[in-house]
Amino acid sequence: LMQLFRPLDLLGWVYRTIRQGLIDMAQMFRLIDTPVEVSDVPGAPALVVRRPTVVFDNVVFGYEDDRNILHGLSLEVPAGGHVAIVGPSGAGKSTIGRLLFRFYDPQSGRILIDGQDIAQVTQESLRSAIGIVPQDSVLFNDTIGYNIGYGREHADAAAIEQAARDAAILPFIQSLPTGFDTEVGERGLKLSGGEKQRVAIARTLLKDPPILLLDEATSALDTRTEQEITGTLRRVSQDRTSIAIAHRLSTIADADTIFVLEAGRLAESGSHTQLLRQGGLYAEMWARQANERLQKVAE
Ligand code: ADP
Ligand code: MG
Repeated sequence: LMQLFRPLDLLGWVYRTIRQGLIDMAQMFRLIDTPVEVSDVPGAPALVVRRPTVVFDNVVFGYEDDRNILHGLSLEVPAGGHVAIVGPSGAGKSTIGRLLFRFYDPQSGRILIDGQDIAQVTQESLRSAIGIVPQDSVLFNDTIGYNIGYGREHADAAAIEQAARDAAILPFIQSLPTGFDTEVGERGLKLSGGEKQRVAIARTLLKDPPILLLDEATSALDTRTEQEITGTLRRVSQDRTSIAIAHRLSTIADADTIFVLEAGRLAESGSHTQLLRQGGLYAEMWARQANERLQKVAE
């Protein structure tokens, strides 16, 4: 990266990016180790969406020229649909999210949101249409209110409170002596993994994106907290087009369509029931995880 930016330029860029509220801190860290190689085409229009479809059309992509990660991937998410992407680690699941957010452009193929090629619209409009909840959300050393409100510029206290309510963390915040003004992070209150994810969900709700991308959003949590947060995520996904990337299959079994990715190719897709009946990779992964759950209960 230092070959691309002098350190001061980088800081300036980071600062402006945060100021513009374009992206989330967690995403920013991912951006920093990402060469800045996409740019808006001259005169690009803004993406226009309400309840969008998302289409990957024969997408070929590799981070390096000599090693492709996605080998002609095609998948469709209907407007307001809830799909899941599962598959072994390294299969290319997170890469799909990075391409949707346009951190990179595919070598060939297209990605369409509501029929608009994402490479042809402004990055700002694209990124404001997508909310990401990653595995480990990053919080600022600042107040809880700030950490939520930062999801949208000029958010007022009522909107922040509503977002906290929808993310099911309002009672917790109200139980703190200084409420939304409580400092969190290294110099303040240490939040549990589940509380941190709820703050991140509230932040995303304030942004109110029509597309929600959950990348292993609950996989760092214990089983019980995972179930609670999964319930919250299910509720907040309701009116949006959502893509959930998951390792633990029990959290996505009710998705409309589950895409099973293996080494950058779609191995199979269908509902949970269809995939179990098919007896392929998904059924195998499901059996293995069910077995692990049983063993845990037995211990
Ligand atoms: P998953 O989320 O399914 O575990 P990823 O999409 O993160 O997998 O990664 C898919 C493959 O791409 C892996 O082999 C990984 O090592 C590689 N990869 C991920 N990010 C980069 C990067 N920035 N540069 C080069 N290779 C990468
Ligand atoms: Mg991943």
